[in-house]
Amino acid sequence: MNPLADLYQELVIDHSKRPRNFGGLEAPCESRQGYNPLCGDRLRLDVRVKDGKVEAISFVGEGCAISQASASLMTEAVKGLTVEQARNLFSRMHLLFTEGDASVPTEELGKLSALSGVWEFPSRVKCASLAWHTLRSALEDDGDPSEPAVTE
Ligand code: ZN
Repeated sequence: MNPLADLYQELVIDHSKRPRNFGGLEAPCESRQGYNPLCGDRLRLDVRVKDGKVEAISFVGEGCAISQASASLMTEAVKGLTVEQARNLFSRMHLLFTEGDASVPTEELGKLSALSGVWEFPSRVKCASLAWHTLRSALEDDGDPSEPAVTE
């Protein structure tokens, strides 16, 4: 069996064809661009935070199926979380993409575990992690000099 098939399982295909939370927000608190030059994936992530929670989140963009599906799945997962929870989720997904599913219990990730096969394909890791790095950048405290997102 072609292991790449795992990457394109049903959930990923569904989210890439019909991305959720797509279209952008009218009044975002934060708006960040993300770009993956290796594949050409682009997205803009709009986030509205209220009372420490991600009240609304939406993206626009274009790119490969993995990048779109990951962004769609990310917005679904993050909506309603506190900023702290969203940052923690970024850390876990980052670990999943770079270290693999032995590092992160995928049963705790729900739908996001659909992305758990990505780490075996280094060329696709940046596609999958683009939305997450952009999220991290959007949720950073102002003035935080942390490493930059995968942005231009
Ligand atoms: Zn891509």
